[in-house]
Amino acid sequence: MLTDLDYQMCMRCGKCRTICPLSTRELGFDDSTPRGRAMLALGLRRGELKVTDEIIKVFSQCPTCKQCEANCPAGAKVTQMIKETRAAIAAAGAPIPLGHKGAFHFVSRMTAIDALTPNWRDLIEGDFQETGEIVYFPGCLPYLEPLLDFEIGAKNIVSGIVKIFNQAGIKPAIPSKLACCGHDALWSGDLSLFNLLKEKNSKILRDAKLIVVGCAEGYMTLKSEYSLGAEIKHISQYTRDLLKSGKLNVVKGEERVTFHDPCRLGRYMGEYEAPREVLTAIADYKDMPRNRKDAVCCGVGAWVNCNECSKQVRIDRVQEAAQVADIMITACPKCLTHFTCLMQEPQKMDGVPQIKIMDFSDFVSRHLKGA
Ligand code: SF4
Ligand code: SF4
Repeated sequence: MLTDLDYQMCMRCGKCRTICPLSTRELGFDDSTPRGRAMLALGLRRGELKVTDEIIKVFSQCPTCKQCEANCPAGAKVTQMIKETRAAIAAAGAPIPLGHKGAFHFVSRMTAIDALTPNWRDLIEGDFQETGEIVYFPGCLPYLEPLLDFEIGAKNIVSGIVKIFNQAGIKPAIPSKLACCGHDALWSGDLSLFNLLKEKNSKILRDAKLIVVGCAEGYMTLKSEYSLGAEIKHISQYTRDLLKSGKLNVVKGEERVTFHDPCRLGRYMGEYEAPREVLTAIADYKDMPRNRKDAVCCGVGAWVNCNECSKQVRIDRVQEAAQVADIMITACPKCLTHFTCLMQEPQKMDGVPQIKIMDFSDFVSRHLKGA
C-alpha cells in the first residue's frame, strides 16, 4: 500500500504528457495524462472528489504500461496509484467496466472453483506429471482461445514449453487444479477474487522448488504478489539458463525477428536481456527503435481499456516492428492476443503491415534440435 507521501510525489512537471502512449494521442484535458491521474487519485484518497462516471472512465483508460514512471524525474508511482484507486472505486460499489463484457474475468473466477478439474492438459504434446518440485505454471492461457474468434496457438505454446523442459531431461509438474494467477482481477480492482486465486494457487504450489511461468503477467504476479518459497522464473529466463548450461540443443534459423517487451516482464520486472539472448541464438534478431525500457506497450492491460486509441498504439507498434523484421515475438499471451486481434481485423489494411506475431515459447520450441 502506498503512503500519503507517495500520493504526493508528482511535482506536476508535465514530462509524462509527451511520454504516455495514450495521452499523446488524446489532446485536451489533463485528466488523460499520468499527471492528471495522479492528481485525481490524490483527490479521491483525500475525499475531496467523489467517484463519478467521468472518474471511472479516467481510471479505466490506462493499460498501466509504466512508461510514465520509467521517465518520471520525481519517482511518482503512477501505476500503483491507479491500481489502488481502481480497488477503492470497486469497493465504493462502482467497479471498473471490463472489456468483452467481463468474459475473461468470469473465466478467471471459474478457475478458482476447487470442484472443477479442467481437462485442457489432454491437448499437451510432451511429458508432464501431476506433482513435482519443478512446476510449469500456465495461468489463464488455456482458457483464452475458446472466448476469442481467432486463434493464438495456445496448444503450441503450452506444448512448446513442455518440449523445452523435456529436451533438458525434465518432466515438469502441471497440477490439474492450478488457477489463473489473478493478475487481471488485481489490476481491475477485484481484490476478493485475486485473494481467492492466490490462496488456491499458493496451496497447490507450497512444495514447489522452481516455478516456470509462461507469461509475463503471471511471472510478475507470482513473484511480486504471492509469498511462495520457490524460485520463480519466466520462461525466457529458464530457456536462457538451459541454453547457457548446454542442456538445450537448438538450430539457428534465418527468420528476421524482433522482440516486443511486455510491460510486466520489462519495465515492471526489469528483464530485458533473457529473451534477446535466446532469440539471437536461434534467429536473425534485430531490436525495434523503441525497445527495453522505452518499448511502447500493446495498449491494453487487464482487459479494461481496449478502444480506438489503444488500437492506434498497436498499429504504431507493428509498423515499427515491420521496419526491422518479418516476425514480431512477444512473451506474454495477452500481448499476443491483442496484436493478433489487430492483425485479423478486416479493416487492418489501413496502415497495418503484414507481419507475423508469435509467442516466444512457440518460436523457441520450433528451433529445438529434432523438433
Ligand atoms: S507523474 Fe512524474 S513526469 Fe508526470 S508530471 Fe508528475 S512528476 Fe512529472
Ligand atoms: S501507465 Fe502508461 S498509459 Fe497509463 S498513464 Fe502511465 S504512460 Fe500512460
